[in-house]
Amino acid sequence: MSVNQQAHTGPPYGQPQPGYQGYQQPAYGGQSLPGVPQSQYGAYNGPMPGYQQPVPPQGSLRAPPTSGAPPPASGASHPSGHLAYSPFEHGDVQNGIPASAAPMQRPPASQPFLPGSAPTPVSQISTFQQYGPPPASVQQLRNHMAGMTIGSTAASAPPPAGLGYGVGPSSYPPTTGAPRPPAMPGPPLTGQTVAGPPSSQPNHVSSPPPPSSMAGLHPGTPMSGLHGPPPPTHPPQPGYQMQQNGSFGQMRGPQPNYGGAYPGAPNYGSPPGPPPPPKRLDPDSIPSPIQVIEDDRNNRGSEPFVTGVRGQVPPLVTTNFLVKDQGNASPRYIRCTSYNIPCTSDMAKQSQVPLAAVIKPLATLPPEETLPYLVDHGESGPVRCNRCKAYMCPFMQFIEGGRRFQCCFCSCVTEVPPHYFQHLDHTGKRVDFYDRPELSLGSYEFLATVDYCKNNKFPSPPAFIFMIDVSYNAVKSGLVRLICEELKSLLDYLPREGNMEESAIRVGFVTYNKVLHFYNVKSSLAQPQMMVVSDVADMFVPLLDGFLVNVNESRTVIASLLDQIPEMFADTRETETVFAPVIQAGLEALKAAECAGKLFIFHTSLPIAEAPGKLKNRDDRKLINTDKEKTLFQPQTSFYNNLAKDCVAQGCCVDLFLFPNQYLDVATLGVVPYQTGGSIYKYAYFQLETDQYRFLNDLRRDVQKEVGFDAVMRVRTSTGIRATDFFGAFYMSNTTDVEMAGLDCDKTITVEFKHDDKLSEDSGALLQCALLYTSCAGQRRLRIHNLSLNCCTQLADLYRNCETDTLINYLAKYAYRGVLNSPVKTVRDALINQCAQILACYRKNCASPSSAGQLILPECMKLLPVYLNCVLKSDVLQPGPEVTTDDRAYIRQLVTSMDVAETNVFFYPRLLPLTKADVDSDSLPAAIRNSEERLSKGDIYLLENGLNVFVWVGVSVQQGLIQNLFGVSSFSQISNALSTLPVLENPFSKKVRSIVDMIQGQRSRYMKLIIVKQEDKLEMLFKHFLVEDKSLSGGASYVDFLCHMHKEIRQLLS
Ligand SMILES: [Zn+2]
Repeated sequence: MSVNQQAHTGPPYGQPQPGYQGYQQPAYGGQSLPGVPQSQYGAYNGPMPGYQQPVPPQGSLRAPPTSGAPPPASGASHPSGHLAYSPFEHGDVQNGIPASAAPMQRPPASQPFLPGSAPTPVSQISTFQQYGPPPASVQQLRNHMAGMTIGSTAASAPPPAGLGYGVGPSSYPPTTGAPRPPAMPGPPLTGQTVAGPPSSQPNHVSSPPPPSSMAGLHPGTPMSGLHGPPPPTHPPQPGYQMQQNGSFGQMRGPQPNYGGAYPGAPNYGSPPGPPPPPKRLDPDSIPSPIQVIEDDRNNRGSEPFVTGVRGQVPPLVTTNFLVKDQGNASPRYIRCTSYNIPCTSDMAKQSQVPLAAVIKPLATLPPEETLPYLVDHGESGPVRCNRCKAYMCPFMQFIEGGRRFQCCFCSCVTEVPPHYFQHLDHTGKRVDFYDRPELSLGSYEFLATVDYCKNNKFPSPPAFIFMIDVSYNAVKSGLVRLICEELKSLLDYLPREGNMEESAIRVGFVTYNKVLHFYNVKSSLAQPQMMVVSDVADMFVPLLDGFLVNVNESRTVIASLLDQIPEMFADTRETETVFAPVIQAGLEALKAAECAGKLFIFHTSLPIAEAPGKLKNRDDRKLINTDKEKTLFQPQTSFYNNLAKDCVAQGCCVDLFLFPNQYLDVATLGVVPYQTGGSIYKYAYFQLETDQYRFLNDLRRDVQKEVGFDAVMRVRTSTGIRATDFFGAFYMSNTTDVEMAGLDCDKTITVEFKHDDKLSEDSGALLQCALLYTSCAGQRRLRIHNLSLNCCTQLADLYRNCETDTLINYLAKYAYRGVLNSPVKTVRDALINQCAQILACYRKNCASPSSAGQLILPECMKLLPVYLNCVLKSDVLQPGPEVTTDDRAYIRQLVTSMDVAETNVFFYPRLLPLTKADVDSDSLPAAIRNSEERLSKGDIYLLENGLNVFVWVGVSVQQGLIQNLFGVSSFSQISNALSTLPVLENPFSKKVRSIVDMIQGQRSRYMKLIIVKQEDKLEMLFKHFLVEDKSLSGGASYVDFLCHMHKEIRQLLS
């Protein structure tokens, strides 16, 4: 029997209650830095008796709801229920008998969310899975696919100019000699065709199948509206000529040449030779991410998500919704792969669905939501279970008139401390239930006692140390001057707590090349003093007093220093740098000051100067697709791992800003930032004019954002499961505690759970994430997040309550860690295999009987194939020739700390038709699917993935639109060197710029803006992100991959 299965009915905390005081929200005294969304930082008022009522923070940027956007014009109909794809059995040669040409129908947009509704097949697609002998081996398939690649549009394409994560178009010249990764081991797709009406599914009674969801297609018969894009082996099409009216998602008109691609009947039984060109499924008939996102917005965006009920699946991350905490943590803090988990280990293994939680303990909340209350139990500290040490939470059960409580995690009974005693009402609930956040809310904080502090001493406020590379490249590019200028104002915006007038954070400054320069900026000095340490082999800090100072007290001296630094090194000839000694210096300074803190290191090159941690250039693209490829992701020395360990012990978090002009070994330089919970930013080929805005925005946000120091996170669970694996930027010295020198509001930790016993349907399963950390004012706190999940004995319940976006977040992190130890191909194959098993298990155990040839996907996993394909063809797992080794290492580390919203848009970018935007409304234009065939040459599009924003301009865009957006009179005059859109006074320009600003505000990093003109060289770069298409690096198209997954599933079922 669980305590909180029903929604609470008590007063919400958002309303005035006796005993709550007004909650002061800091807004930096009303100041704001240009371009920086502010006010999310600095959550609390400091220690308070009891807790106080928050008011919304001021001035935070929040995107207007997008749910009002019009739905895409058309698409496949996917009513609630799974999709069924039905390839004919081998030899069932009905290729081309048109079953029905009835148009597809779309369910009403307002279709209710029915998580429990039985799946219904809505479409069947028959594919000929095999030609010739049955697929003998992956190698054979691979040969086929490789054969298919030759002569495709992709093969004849010019090499793209560098892609890059914030890399400029001119960066990283193409490495044309690079080995080409093998093609996606997809199935030999010979004869797919669209099949007849869905076979009846007697058990799926809740929603009848649509009248006729798919129609037949005769090969070679251009049937209006029902064919797909040209097959891959078709000669390159000039492109876009079929969609001159930009009719997204609508049935496309006939393509005259389509039939020509089919030279006759497939030669079944023939030896595998050059495969006949594949026919295509109609992309409109397969599950559409856009449709799923749109449906969720329509169905779940209007009502707040109230967390009182156990095991509720939250709205998707792409839906704007408000959360009301009524006993479970908000999905902004925790999302799970499934909200109903198998009772037994056997069941879990059978399904292969990973059980994982993606936890963002310090997540920023929208201004309308309530920040976690701070609970102060005084000297006695938080009440905890005697045995498992779980913290008091809504699921603890009070017994014996309130004198004892039984732990919801381990069942141990603990005495209630006298000061915490309270009577129970007739339902067994404490009468102070609604007065105590720890009894009624999913998330809250406790003020920690001295017992929770290092060496039993309350911590000092943390320090920030700015460490600037002043070697030749850094000075010459203008970077040093830029940083110094910026710091002069940025130092006034250090994070501060509650309504404190100034930040408690102290600051220090170091510059370096081959040697280090420390600065004494003590307030009593007239001028700053420099102390040089040239013995970098044994780093020490030459001054204690005057190195870490209060900004206000030392304002004049600091300003003078920041003025002088660019001048001092203006004529430097020093090109070599050190790196490890820089971190050591920061670490030693924090040690000496006995505080935690953060190092902001601005670094430009591979540290080749003689010093500990010296590196050599070991970049070798020839290793790609070999067993040694993993070494590209591994650090070249263990030196940095040891250094990271020392940093974590001190609470020294490292944020690294990189400005490389060539390889600088991100895999090695990133070790310390990564393991200390820090961030890495990379600006390849940094140019002041084009990149400074992006860099400064990132720096401002990074310096100002909410961060906890010296953090330890532990996740407790009900008896029956336990946390077994962890992914993210942290260090672990044992198997349970996730240690982070720093943890900011953007960092996410993914935790996997495994059974060690049985769970029960009655009690469900509970998670409690406890984060112990030091606030920016030096206060030691515990942040607690609780989540209750359902448990099931039927697999169908598991599959009805999964969240694919979270599943993908987990799978991507799992795979990205796998490349450190295994060949990339092994990792890709394992991913495919696991997902095939997940879907095969559903098919076998949950779907109603149907033709073996049908592909049946669970409703909440219908996007698993398309998203999985995006992970498989991502730059880490299948790099194109333009992706550098550093890019891959960078992306690998970045993704590992991403939350679910970030991985969602990173793997399946958002593509918006800007020319369809309503200039009179706040809404965004409806997104479209990431495929070239969805683009019209008469339109302008925006594509974003969290790191880059592309603005793609079609060749036939009206001159007036070009004039309004770019301020030039013709397509040819548009410069793709622009890094921002010109500010023009007309509605279209304003609308587009507001969309770009809105999207920038939603992301944790400032995205690089890249203008792409259709048919321009840069278009290759853009096409890389059209993830439903076949990729240049050999990644399969969505359609091909879906067929491949189907074949994998069938093999598992046979
Ligand atoms: Zn316990």
